[in-house]
Amino acid sequence: MDHSRTTIQPHPPHLPTQNAGDVDRTHCPSDEAVKAAAGQELPLSELFQQHLAQCPACLREFKDHRVQLEWERIYHKTKWLLYAVLFLILCSMAYRAYHASH
Ligand SMILES: [Zn+2]
Repeated sequence: MDHSRTTIQPHPPHLPTQNAGDVDRTHCPSDEAVKAAAGQELPLSELFQQHLAQCPACLREFKDHRVQLEWERIYHKTKWLLYAVLFLILCSMAYRAYHASH
């Protein structure tokens, strides 16, 4: 192994997703850090933004986390809405059943 050559090569654009581990990502933030950054409402740190601008692998992970978190948010919102609608339907059914029997 030749460790004297430390020039950072840009990620090849044709690199398949499953081979992303082959690129030098020793200076990349951890996946947890990327996910935390994607989930926070606060603006990103300058250092992190700079890294995302230079590192397509991290940028892709960041966007993936953003999309995933956004879907989770939508799911949690619609889940409660669904329960509320079901509850109203049950109430109206019970109300009608009560009135029909009298
Ligand atoms: Zn990176």
